[in-house]
Amino acid sequence: MKRLTYIVLFFAVTGFADESDYTAAREAMVEDVRYYAQLAHDPDAVGLSDAVMTAMGSVERHELVPASQRRYSYENRPLPIGYGQTISQPYIVALMTELIAPDADDIVLEVGTGSGYQAAVLAELVDHVYSIEIISALADRARVDLERLGYENISGKLGDGYYGWEEHAPFDAIVVTAAASHVPPPLIEQLKPGGRMVIPVGGRFLTQTLLLLEKSDTGEIVTRQFGAVRFVPLTGEH
Ligand code: SAM
Repeated sequence: MKRLTYIVLFFAVTGFADESDYTAAREAMVEDVRYYAQLAHDPDAVGLSDAVMTAMGSVERHELVPASQRRYSYENRPLPIGYGQTISQPYIVALMTELIAPDADDIVLEVGTGSGYQAAVLAELVDHVYSIEIISALADRARVDLERLGYENISGKLGDGYYGWEEHAPFDAIVVTAAASHVPPPLIEQLKPGGRMVIPVGGRFLTQTLLLLEKSDTGEIVTRQFGAVRFVPLTGEH
């Protein structure tokens, strides 16, 4: 573990010479995320599956952050992506991905495209990802970056994700990556029976609680809590 930390520190201090440096740093990040997950000692702690960790090891996070942040791209922490927004911490991306129990046939909605990183991790695991972003400059940048990286199973749109994406509903899973004061009713409606939604719910300025909602085959919602998180707020007219 110490060796991995040294590798990450080395790159953080010296910068990256070429692609192989990023590959080594990404491998170190995956180990950090795995270690971080093991530190959660409570009985409900979520183990991270090999499939999710393989996806985390595949997505080129350094290609999705602004140039000024690239040297930090494989640190296990959120980073600024401009417009007052952030790319989420890798561990939280892994956790949210794990919580929706992704399946290869799944159609997933993401609210809050941001850099496109969470969408890319999901796209490694499911059939198709629909992602909505409310800031046009971020929606545009993510579209260009994800196309450049070859993700053909991600569709993005500019809009208010509070209302979901009716044309492509219902979804097997929904991942909300901005903090909501409550679970948006349109998103509950757009979740398939048997579907899962992960969403941070709480106040705008403090921490929120990460919720997992599961819709039964008969449409009942069961909600479970997975600890405190800190996200930028879900904005919009609602
Ligand atoms: N998933 C992103 C990633 O992997 O980079 C990180 C998302 S960032 C924490 C939250 C994003 O949600 C921001 O880009 C923000 O502009 C967006 N957002 C906030 N309110 C929104 C809304 N009502 N509809 C869609 N996107 C929203």
